[in-house]
Amino acid sequence: LEAKEEFRHKTLATDVMRPRRGDPPVSVLTESGMTVEEVERLIADTTYSGFPVVISQQSPRLVGFVLRRDLVISLENARRHQEGVVSMSPILFTECDPPMSPSAPPAVKLRSILDLSPFTVTVHTAMEIVVDIFRKLGLRQCLVIQNGRLLGIITKKDILKHMAQMANRDPDSILFN
Ligand code: ADP
Repeated sequence: LEAKEEFRHKTLATDVMRPRRGDPPVSVLTESGMTVEEVERLIADTTYSGFPVVISQQSPRLVGFVLRRDLVISLENARRHQEGVVSMSPILFTECDPPMSPSAPPAVKLRSILDLSPFTVTVHTAMEIVVDIFRKLGLRQCLVIQNGRLLGIITKKDILKHMAQMANRDPDSILFN
């Protein structure tokens, strides 16, 4: 995202974020309640570079963001070196351990790989500002929130595609999702 020219279009974060209207929701992890097997399946079924972590599927309040590569390494490590870890072991991003039965398999604790303050904007944030922040902070992605709920994600590549698209349009037009 070179800062050669200013981004002057009046588009909003909601116009650029994924998923697009009608697509399945963002692939997220929950801070507790998922098993090693479920997270491994999500990794195998997607190619995303990272996953937002939310409180629960019912309450998609953002807790943080975890990079795919950190998740892969940590799960491999846990499988190899942490005693008793099995497919049904719970994955925990929480600070405190929820109560668990003594016979339950040991949890894999991953809070240390969680970015607890990922960059966020709202659906109404002007793309002009988003582009500026990506450039100044050197971001790879940012998360899009509405009323405290995680709604979408914008990657650097999404922005580059959007800029290429807008370069072929009337600069004052507003693009709707
Ligand atoms: P890039 O945009 O550099 O290819 P990704 O592979 O992470 O990076 O993302 C590919 C596409 O999927 C992008 O359009 C992005 O907005 C979207 N995306 C990224 N992460 C997620 C996710 N966890 N859930 C849903 N969509 C995502």
